[in-house]
Amino acid sequence: MIKIKLEVLNIKGHQMNKCCYKHKLLPNEELIESEESCQFDVEELILVDGKYFCQFHCPVINDQKELTEKGMWNDEKIDRFNDDFFEVIGITDDREFTGEGKVDDFRGVVFPGEIDFSDVQFKAPVDFSNCEFIGESYFTDAVFSDDVIFTYSTFRKSTNFYNCRFDRGLDFLYCMVLESINFQYTNKSDHEDQEERQVIKTINMSDSVFIGDAYFDNREFKGKTDFRRCTFSTAPSFYGCELHQETFFPPFSNFLDTSSSEAFQKYRVLRLSMENVRNRVDEGSFFALEQRSLRLSSGFADKYLSLSFIYEKCSLYGTSVSRPMIILLCFLSFFSFNYYYFFDIEFVEAVEFSIQQVVRPFTSWNSKEAEYLGKIFIISDFFALRLIATLQSLVSLMLIALSILAARWRFKRG
Ligand SMILES: [Zn+2]
Repeated sequence: MIKIKLEVLNIKGHQMNKCCYKHKLLPNEELIESEESCQFDVEELILVDGKYFCQFHCPVINDQKELTEKGMWNDEKIDRFNDDFFEVIGITDDREFTGEGKVDDFRGVVFPGEIDFSDVQFKAPVDFSNCEFIGESYFTDAVFSDDVIFTYSTFRKSTNFYNCRFDRGLDFLYCMVLESINFQYTNKSDHEDQEERQVIKTINMSDSVFIGDAYFDNREFKGKTDFRRCTFSTAPSFYGCELHQETFFPPFSNFLDTSSSEAFQKYRVLRLSMENVRNRVDEGSFFALEQRSLRLSSGFADKYLSLSFIYEKCSLYGTSVSRPMIILLCFLSFFSFNYYYFFDIEFVEAVEFSIQQVVRPFTSWNSKEAEYLGKIFIISDFFALRLIATLQSLVSLMLIALSILAARWRFKRG
């Protein structure tokens, strides 16, 4: 049985008690302590974990990870909360937000259930930072005429910005998206302002985490687009997009989806987009992700017994210059040990012989060298040594070639 540690108190006129909400700031911002209560002028406060909250800032889970009373509200109470919120920010039946309501600051609000901002015309800057959306949230067909901020917000259920129009910047830093998020635009839209709706001018999503699907299809990114340090648990969808030259993606280790059948297609679209803007590094990364997804979504033979497997392990599909060199050193040590242990060659000479197979490959087939080795070893050992030395030369040449190709790819012009 869930234990509720919550009281609802009417403390009208009680100076000591005020909503304790403190805004979480960006790392480079300074916290300004204030004696004022939060932005909402609410008389009824709710006690959770020994602290008072207004209904808008009250969390739905307490410190013991138990549901608070707000977390157990039924649909009727959630609807009343939503009505109260729309009333206090001044959105009425005309679905317009002008910033002239009682409150124009939405920071830190915990929306306890489904919330619907569809078709709302946001005519003033909107700040949803530090908000928590517990249920599904809908911004479908909404218009943001000014800047919109969702920094540090959490979206627990699916979130929809489908066909949304963003006239200015969109800040989405440090967000946590636990289900799908949809920024798609449809070309079948019957809006008169189709061209404006398709465009996203600047978008900053750095440091956000996307656990579910993320869709950005058919958007034209006309300005700086920042996904640095983002984590994508499923491959993001950018079908039909036009990306800006100033687009930044996280390192490819932050793309965790490399085994689903759709991932291969989505990474291919991103690779082609990066090719269009001549971004060699990201193009290489998405090529590696594309190939890895193709390999891991195939059968056992393609997964582990294919050239693709060797290419990935040796040079991350041509994106790593150093990895082939490190593997080359490992092989050099391995073969040195073999010559020393199995052919009774002095250790220093074994290392020297091993290096020789790298810098002067296939010398064991050189007539002078063969004559010299033939005198030292019996026929069977001589043949085995030649085979192993040849194998080392082949592997070494392949690794050196992979390293040169990776460097060539990275610095290629045109
Ligand atoms: Zn509050």
